[in-house]
Amino acid sequence: VDEAFARIDEVDKDVKAFLALNEEAARSEAHTLDESEADGHTLLAGMPIGIKDNMVTRGLKTTCASHILENYDPLYDATVVEKVHAQKAIMIGKLNMDEFAMGSSTETSFFAKTRNPWDLERVPGGSSGGSAAAVAAGEVLFALGTDTGGSIRQPSAFCGVVGMKPTYGRVSRYGLVAFASSLDQAGPITRTVEDNAFLLEAIAGLDRHDSTSADVPVPHYADALTGDIKGLRVAVPKEYLGEGIDESVKASVRAAIQQLESLGAVIDEVSLPHSKYAVPAYYIIASSEASANLARFDGVRYGVRAETNDLIEMYKKSRSEGFGDEVKRRIMLGTFALSSGYYDAYYKKAQQVRTLIRQDFEKVFQNHDIIVGPTTPTTAFKIGENIDDPLTMYANDLLTIPVNLAGAPAISLPCGLADGLPVGLQMIGRPFGEETLYRAAHAYEQ
Ligand code: GLN
Repeated sequence: VDEAFARIDEVDKDVKAFLALNEEAARSEAHTLDESEADGHTLLAGMPIGIKDNMVTRGLKTTCASHILENYDPLYDATVVEKVHAQKAIMIGKLNMDEFAMGSSTETSFFAKTRNPWDLERVPGGSSGGSAAAVAAGEVLFALGTDTGGSIRQPSAFCGVVGMKPTYGRVSRYGLVAFASSLDQAGPITRTVEDNAFLLEAIAGLDRHDSTSADVPVPHYADALTGDIKGLRVAVPKEYLGEGIDESVKASVRAAIQQLESLGAVIDEVSLPHSKYAVPAYYIIASSEASANLARFDGVRYGVRAETNDLIEMYKKSRSEGFGDEVKRRIMLGTFALSSGYYDAYYKKAQQVRTLIRQDFEKVFQNHDIIVGPTTPTTAFKIGENIDDPLTMYANDLLTIPVNLAGAPAISLPCGLADGLPVGLQMIGRPFGEETLYRAAHAYEQ
């Protein structure tokens, strides 16, 4: 813990991963950790962890990187926060993100632009950019992020770390500030696959506070790290190595696939024909859910309140001043898609497309154990390069979004460098098949 704070002192003025530090409490918790707790009876005793700032933490501000929640001091801990605490991890602080987790670069944060530790002129990815950057820069060993359309995997790919988006329902959403409730999942970001397996075990499981959390036993994921993937049936979707993917990314991923083959995996080309509709379907569904979820930020119950004597004026002004441009864009898009007369044309259509995408995956998983491809079409881009062009920014999540729509788990892990920047290898599994992903990822990593 002392080392974590020393490292933060040294590098965070450049990286800007943290929005708030929990220094006093963390140091005192670490120093009072007794030996029996540090003895292997808990999963994470004494391990420094950073928490994305859309997870509520009692007594520590939770801003979602938004002006509207700038002064929000939660009264309780999110279940994931409670769970890492129960395993004796030490919370180092809260990590920067895109405002309300909307974005792919951490540039929509109201407070700061986090930089990619590999090249400070580049973005760390998003929306869990602070989480991935903090792990990559060695500020913490463990971080939690959330992934609605790629926000754990894409920043993990850009920063050269390991990020897992668990199956929808694997991890409780209680205490995560909701963006798109049918897609949001929290998950671990770490340096190694083994660390990742430990952190997922710590946070997974049924929670009576979240009716969508699943009643499925939580395995000791680390047991899956045998190094043996002989006979593992690996599907490579041709769409994932097709148009719009950088040649240098494809080359790294092809080399990784060859390595899996040399370890005994059986490789097969498949198709996910509806994945080309994933980005438009996602932006209708996610924005629709966001427009409903963000209705609660009205200046009354949470955060910043505009000064005026008229109630309706107060709602309008608080929201106009409190939300940034990207959040407003989503609220408008979502409200439009849900309005009468447009609901069938957009929202219902998008839900139908979602079913087709899920069925594409189910079909492939009848004969294969995992799906492998790149996590992102490019490596980390320059700060400022895409921020004024929402469509290009949205296209970044081309390869991660289908997984959220299908509710499946997926991991991103480093697979070499292209022009000095990390490339992410994505492995997608069957629902509740995280063990198989860890086994394959660990065998590759060795
Ligand atoms: N980049 C996507 C978006 O902006 C995904 C975000 C996320 O997963 N939270 O919606």
